[in-house]
Amino acid sequence: MKSKKLIKSGFAIFNVLFLIGLVFSLVEINANEYLPQHLFNLAIITASGIIDKIILIGLLILFLIFGIRLFWQAYLSRLVRIEIKLNKPMLLKVTKWFLFVFISLMILEEAVIFIKKEGFIYRNTLLIQLLLILFILFIALQIKKAGISRIWRPVKKGFSLIVSPALSWLFLFVFIIINLLTFYHSHLKRPDGPNIILIIADALRADHLGCYGYARDTSPNIDRFASDSLLFENAWANSSWTKPSVGSILTSLFPHQHGAVYWSSVLAHNRMTITEVLKNLGYRTYGVQTNPVLSKAHGFNQGFDYYEQIDLARGEKITKEFSRWLKANPGRPFFAYLHYYDTHVPYNAPKAFGEKFGVNSYQLFKAGEFKTIDVRLLNLLDLSDEDKKSLINLYDAGVNYVDYNFKCILDSLDEMGISDKTIIVFTSDHGEEFWEHGNYEHGHTLYEELLRVPLIIGYPGKVRGERIKSNVQLVDILPIIMQLSGNSINKNDTEGLNLTEIISNKQEVIFAEGILLGDYKRAIIKSNWKLIENSGYVNQDTLELYGDLTRYVIPKYKFGYELYDLQNDPGENKNLVEQKNKEFIKLRARMRHYKVTPENFNKETKIERNKKLEDLKSLGYIR
Ligand SMILES: [Zn+2]
Repeated sequence: MKSKKLIKSGFAIFNVLFLIGLVFSLVEINANEYLPQHLFNLAIITASGIIDKIILIGLLILFLIFGIRLFWQAYLSRLVRIEIKLNKPMLLKVTKWFLFVFISLMILEEAVIFIKKEGFIYRNTLLIQLLLILFILFIALQIKKAGISRIWRPVKKGFSLIVSPALSWLFLFVFIIINLLTFYHSHLKRPDGPNIILIIADALRADHLGCYGYARDTSPNIDRFASDSLLFENAWANSSWTKPSVGSILTSLFPHQHGAVYWSSVLAHNRMTITEVLKNLGYRTYGVQTNPVLSKAHGFNQGFDYYEQIDLARGEKITKEFSRWLKANPGRPFFAYLHYYDTHVPYNAPKAFGEKFGVNSYQLFKAGEFKTIDVRLLNLLDLSDEDKKSLINLYDAGVNYVDYNFKCILDSLDEMGISDKTIIVFTSDHGEEFWEHGNYEHGHTLYEELLRVPLIIGYPGKVRGERIKSNVQLVDILPIIMQLSGNSINKNDTEGLNLTEIISNKQEVIFAEGILLGDYKRAIIKSNWKLIENSGYVNQDTLELYGDLTRYVIPKYKFGYELYDLQNDPGENKNLVEQKNKEFIKLRARMRHYKVTPENFNKETKIERNKKLEDLKSLGYIR
């Protein structure tokens, strides 16, 4: 009798947990629009991941409660009775319950912390799947022993649908099928393509690398790599600060399309990212990044099996973490995204690198110590040329340090013997302004010093060293990677061009938009002409964060248009809107193809105000 009751409870619990998992899965798959984008494998992996997790957590909680109860009955309750020799039954009862609940909560909390450690579920998926299947099979056998007819009877007796054993058989069937499919997809079937590593050095302007013509020897290793790779001489970022730009790299969409435009906005979940596409193909996906605006809360972890966030960490940490992961996960093609922060304020390269570029202990700005706000405020009080120079020295030391880390990555690949099976994409999210237009740092204009980025793509044995003059922008990276790795994507889902199209000069225009500080701007480049539109629209989300400091940190902006002839005026000093009216009108018409209404951006403000302030502080934008 007792075992029959146990079986019934088993059914009910499994059904409820499965249903919860199913609902969560459907919500997640629907929010990401995996089915309309034909990412079917990803939908199944997502479903089995969520359902397994919920069943596992549910069972663990049940076992714990059960275990604690047994322990309590067998041992602890006796102890308590001995200790509290009070002749007040009520007080005794309350004390017992209090202790029971307290101990349960403590153990449950520990269990939750243990499970929440992302690595636990990720690293042990195979084992967990096997254990779960065995467990469910065991229950199924027990049910069979009890006899099928007995299982049908309770249904007639009016058992609610949710706990009905009939439903259990259906759920069980679905559960086993999706787990087997996931197992097949992520363990047995191998994707055909090579490994892919995407390296982004934050705020690295192209012209501070040797291979892009810099006079100082900042990048010997990257230069050597570039000589055997495709180097794009004319590459533009699609925005001048991290979040919209990295969003464009990952989605091959312009910022207003992927939605991550302002400080608190989130990368659209319903657009595919390169990570999701590659995971759907069976790639392992790994990310380690250092910029707080690229956090999971901002949606940048979409499609990553493992996404580690080490805010503001030095390059060495990123390199080490990646190498460790690489060694622990051999044999299966992977996509890895490494985000280096050493070229971003406060340029915290180790001392040995600073010394090579004239960084000394006497200078005003110390490596890793000064904040963006310091320079911005000092800038208004006229920074001396010497101080400006010392900041550039710090920056160059950062570039050199990233270069050193780049070499370490190449060495790890050599060590593992996978260099010739790996595509490496080296780029940046935007440049850095060193007073070319009177200001410092990034995120406030769309001038060339902030848009020109390096783009170097190496694939030993498959591509030869070549300098490509054709125009390219960050949204092209996804289609290029897909083409080079022999995979295809739906053209309608992306804005970028693939390598063949770029080399045959199909790129008509370059488009950039979005601003961190000041009014919303957009820019369009067509042949030698560049048009910048200063909209005058200021997003309150960004502005409010600065409070009274706003007028100091946000440079005065001009409302209206700026037109530059990049060939004759690469420094963008002479606005030709008046003189070249015909060009202006043509470009303005072309710009209108990008149907942007800044007020209507995806403004999912999931990020709390306090978190935003914390991020800004850690980045050095505010005190
Ligand atoms: Zn950045």
